Amino acid sequence: AAEEGFDLEDVEGAIEAAGHGPLPVLAVVGRPNVGKSTLVNRIIGRREAVVEDKPGVTRDRVTYEAEWAGRRFKVVDTGGWEQDVLGIDASVAAQAEYAIDAADAVVFVVDAKVGATDTDEAVVRLLRKAGKPVVLCANKVDGPSGEADAAYLWSLGLGEPHPVSALHGRGTGDMLDQVLEVLPEAPAQTFGTAVGGPRRVALIGRPNVGKSSLLNKVAGEERVVVNELAGTTRDPVDEMIELGGKTWKFVDTAGIRKRVHLQQGADYYASLRTAAAVEKAEVAVVLIDAAESISVQDQRIVTMAVEAGRALVLAFNKWDTLDEERRYYLEREIETELGQVAWAPRVNVSARTGRHMEKLVPAIETALEGWETRVPTGRLNAFLGELVAAHPHPVRGGKQPRILFGTQAGTRPPRFVLFASGFIEAGYRRFIERRLREEFGFEGTPIHISVRVRE
Ligand code: GDP
Ligand code: GDP
Repeated sequence: AAEEGFDLEDVEGAIEAAGHGPLPVLAVVGRPNVGKSTLVNRIIGRREAVVEDKPGVTRDRVTYEAEWAGRRFKVVDTGGWEQDVLGIDASVAAQAEYAIDAADAVVFVVDAKVGATDTDEAVVRLLRKAGKPVVLCANKVDGPSGEADAAYLWSLGLGEPHPVSALHGRGTGDMLDQVLEVLPEAPAQTFGTAVGGPRRVALIGRPNVGKSSLLNKVAGEERVVVNELAGTTRDPVDEMIELGGKTWKFVDTAGIRKRVHLQQGADYYASLRTAAAVEKAEVAVVLIDAAESISVQDQRIVTMAVEAGRALVLAFNKWDTLDEERRYYLEREIETELGQVAWAPRVNVSARTGRHMEKLVPAIETALEGWETRVPTGRLNAFLGELVAAHPHPVRGGKQPRILFGTQAGTRPPRFVLFASGFIEAGYRRFIERRLREEFGFEGTPIHISVRVRE
């Protein structure tokens, strides 16, 4: 590598950075208006439209990537929650429960100016039960005079309250240092490393696409759908299901079965649950209602799975209801609306009739295989060498940037680092991704390609 103008340390650093495994998850929980969204904005270091949202407006995005002191992690924001028919206590509890369940550590935000309320105490009980590491954030301490307010929060029994002003940034650095102390390096749910352990599947999709019906079908028995309010029962969250001679762990099925009748916040709640399920899974099966037009919400759910770096299967349900015309239009819609995931295996199923249920497992297995594929460095470079020779990067400003060499830094999903002599344009990156897929498969998996340019 040295003769190509990169020193070994750069190369090793780049490979390590690109090859990171799944990131640990930090959940930010607390009552409405304590400043969770403001704090999340601080943590992720940019003003994404988290706080600007109007009340009641659906927000799909709940998970963000963040970095502090050189460590990367994910942040789950629960700030988009709207008070709903369950009343404040139940809704805060339900929201916090999902977030805590998916997290490796929790920042519990309390408004230091208000002090600990009964709702705060309820969340404390959930936190105790979950046993995850907690950092107590005493927010809205905008100046030294607020420090005394923060000290009162020792009474919550969660250890030291960290006085913070999420709004002005005061104290957030110290609090994040503490977060890194307690946040594990890797998520507790390490991917399938337990040899022979069941693979984890998230069955996701917008409401009414047939998730619950499909789950009942594959589980081989009709189940009673519990008409329960969120947070009032503790169903087992994951479910082991025998399929195709193997045991699979369908994660977060409690949320699927439960019929949650919420008014405000229901969509947000669904997004949070989807994000939590995706975090826990290795492969996402996104269920889409084939009888209806593919919607923005369908696309967002697909994007959630892809951005989380999970293997992906697309299942088009309610196939029994499709006439020829609809089938025709569906194919067009898939091309235009889901073209960016043309690599995902697809099954056309009917949860009602059981059509093609047997195709689900092979599709999941294909996707997982692609997700775990590793291309040996020698083979990769032979391929890159030929590719670059046959299709050089366009000349820009009298120079022709070249891909010098590359390596696969990680799997699950596959991550590549390419080393180049100059800036590689997006179009050329996409071309390389396409050719990589043609050559090595990667069916059912997103792939990451990062490019390092020689200084
Ligand atoms: P969430 O509902 O918990 O997500 O709370 P938000 O982040 O939406 O904040 C609620 C309100 O508290 C907003 O008006 C914020 O500007 C305000 N706020 C948040 N953090 C602070 C802080 O550190 N100091 C002060 N004074 N106000 C804050
Ligand atoms: P979920 O909200 O995604 O869990 O969706 P459900 O499983 O509750 O299904 C929503 C509605 O679609 C119910 O009325 C189901 O009976 C119906 N449904 C689900 N799958 C199929 C299918 O394959 N064909 C038809 N015709 N209807 C279906």
